[in-house]
Amino acid sequence: MDLFATLDTMGHEEVVFFHHQESGLKAIVAIHNTVLGPALGGLRMWPYKNEQEALTDVLRLSRGMTYKASVSGLNLGGGKSVIIGDPSQKSEEMFRALGRFVQSLGGRYITAEDVNTNVQDMEYIFQETGYVTGVHPVHGGSGDPSPYTAMGVIQGIKACLNKKYRHTDIGKCSYAVQGLGHVGYHVVKHLRDADAKVFVTDMQQQRIDQCVELGAEAVKMDDIYGVNAKVYVPCALGASVNEKTIPQFKFEIVAGAANNQLATDACGDELHQRGILYAPDYAINAGGLMNVSIELQGYDRERANRMVTGIYDIIGNIFALAEREKIPNYRAADRMAEQRIAAIGRVKLPTVNQSYERFFVGRKNGH
Ligand code: NAD
Repeated sequence: MDLFATLDTMGHEEVVFFHHQESGLKAIVAIHNTVLGPALGGLRMWPYKNEQEALTDVLRLSRGMTYKASVSGLNLGGGKSVIIGDPSQKSEEMFRALGRFVQSLGGRYITAEDVNTNVQDMEYIFQETGYVTGVHPVHGGSGDPSPYTAMGVIQGIKACLNKKYRHTDIGKCSYAVQGLGHVGYHVVKHLRDADAKVFVTDMQQQRIDQCVELGAEAVKMDDIYGVNAKVYVPCALGASVNEKTIPQFKFEIVAGAANNQLATDACGDELHQRGILYAPDYAINAGGLMNVSIELQGYDRERANRMVTGIYDIIGNIFALAEREKIPNYRAADRMAEQRIAAIGRVKLPTVNQSYERFFVGRKNGH
């Protein structure tokens, strides 16, 4: 990979490689954009086949965080970090070494948990730096973000119902939920509490059983795409909306928690042409990020609830922009995110006076 050319295309500000030989830590931090604020994004540990694969992943994920934070109205930029390694080889030493590296970035990057990292790992990092979120509530942390992500998904579904059917009664509709893990289970719970018809599927029987106990109907994994439900709620892995699955859809809405739901942009165009309403993934699944962002100002559950409820309006605004500009929803979300970064960037341009002020303050302090 021609690194600088790639950074040019994707628009990254900074990519840092960290190596701590003693603990075996090999990590990459990618800071995509800090116009709106410090770059916040999770730390993923994965046995990447090679450095190239890790780099590609961290560049893609950090860029996604910029868009998610922007469209959610947060004063945060986009970043992400990856540790190259087998999660079974984790150690306190490794995460504390990472914490010291994160500290050296001076707050431009703030980390959080992600795939294969957990609250305990964040606690180790927290011993070396304050630039970490998702620590235990006893340290002012916000705990598991998944219930907030699920709450945001429900708000997004309501915005879809409003757009499509002019009501927001989730109980009046039928759903197909794929993936019943941390987020999916809570989504099913909300839907069943409203007495909705819910079809579910997962790779793990125990997770299916939990949802069947709530009154959901289990279907085989491959059958979920063709069930007779109005709303498809992807809460498993990415790319489940693809050229093989779309032709099976009887769904009128796609609104779920999974990241990167569309296998390609063309799939987003295809949904648009078929009149299937798509709630852009990074906007509808931002509840967890919103929740964690509040830790930075002192965690407050009430504020978190209020912010996550705002996903209803965010999704509604994306639909309005898409309609105004006659573009698919996934493009409208990107546009909204980019417009906000450009606008706030203009506000933050220092005036001539402010620039001089900084210069003189620097001189007074003897710098
Ligand atoms: P999870 O690992 O707890 O749950 C995922 C579930 O999907 C598992 O039960 C797994 O068995 C199941 N699954 C995987 N492949 C499947 C398939 N092909 N068919 C059916 N089931 C399958 O993950 P999670 O934390 O619930 O996150 C779910 C999705 O939401 C992920 O894409 C994640 O990136 C995204 N997301 C999560 C959060 C959060 O707060 N946890 C926030 C934003 C986005």
